[in-house]
Amino acid sequence: MNINISYPPSNLSRLSNAEIDRRIKKIRDWFGRRLLILVHHYQQDQIVRQADAIGDSFALSRRAAETDAEFIVFCGVHFMAETADLLTTAQQKVFLPNIDAGCSLADMADIGAVTYAWQKIQEITRDNPIPVTYINSHLDLKAFCGQNGGIVCTSSSAQAALEWAWEQKSKVFFFPDQHLGRNVATKMGIAPEEIIMYDPKRPVDAEFMRQIKNARLILWNGFCCVHQAFFMSDIERLRKSIPGIKIIVHPECPAEVARNADFMGSTEYIIRTVSAGEPGSAWGVGTERNLVYRLAKQFPDRQVILLNEKASMCRTMAMITPIHLLYQLECLSAGNLVNQVMVPENLRADALIAVQKMLDLPK
Ligand code: SF4
Repeated sequence: MNINISYPPSNLSRLSNAEIDRRIKKIRDWFGRRLLILVHHYQQDQIVRQADAIGDSFALSRRAAETDAEFIVFCGVHFMAETADLLTTAQQKVFLPNIDAGCSLADMADIGAVTYAWQKIQEITRDNPIPVTYINSHLDLKAFCGQNGGIVCTSSSAQAALEWAWEQKSKVFFFPDQHLGRNVATKMGIAPEEIIMYDPKRPVDAEFMRQIKNARLILWNGFCCVHQAFFMSDIERLRKSIPGIKIIVHPECPAEVARNADFMGSTEYIIRTVSAGEPGSAWGVGTERNLVYRLAKQFPDRQVILLNEKASMCRTMAMITPIHLLYQLECLSAGNLVNQVMVPENLRADALIAVQKMLDLPK
């Protein structure tokens, strides 16, 4: 599908932040309700200030499904804008202000490799496990789930999606994030020996076949480079330096970190829990830095710090800058529909089946 891709000209980079904000506001006022700006929690403050709705992938998917705005500008990463396009009507248009803003986790599973693994698993088990894909995945994997009786999940809905899947079949094939699958299943009481990671390079020997046959959860070997970079040593360091600190982490963190944290949950869960903390409490938070810095500013009466300062920036989220947002809006107001994200029609129906199942899960 041909997309008209365009990048901000260099003269925009000379604008002050105040001028960028002023020009964005002017265009937003001009569009009124015809325009909706959706912003993920991991975006920087200057973009969050322009949001009509802020949320994690799940909340923003719901918001996209509900809106009747004609133009939806998604300040997040590519799979999120794609999901928004999936959930809106043919008359609505979705834009990603920097079309290069992808997700390294989503890039770790491609349809060819997943289909090959799926066929191998079927040969070994002589059964069809339920495929479950994290929303942080390419659209063809969501369509794969729709075609094969599976479902999409977010970090907020992963437990409900796994419960639903295990009601259908005894085995689940979960991709692309191994940590989310493992951490949520462990929290649900699934034993370590019932969870196996599919390794495409591993020879299909008797031991591998035995493990696959016994597994209730087969994981893909993907990870988020932001959340995988939190370690047990970060938790130990903070607990030593700030006695009584509560550690709260996202389920994309490694198992050891998730197991030893005081709390684990989705981005929205982290926000709710820290917001409900007592004045004077201290929180070590294992997730993306923009969100943690914002929580720290929002709650000056408590200590909110990153679990690891060095490892917590999502570089692809950061590819959407205020200048990209301004340029996107200026193009739209001039009738120039650049950076539109469009779901391929041959995948739409199947992907929608799997995403709609997620939206229909009990809360
Ligand atoms: S934080 Fe991780 S999963 Fe989220 S968009 Fe960035 S790379 Fe992808």
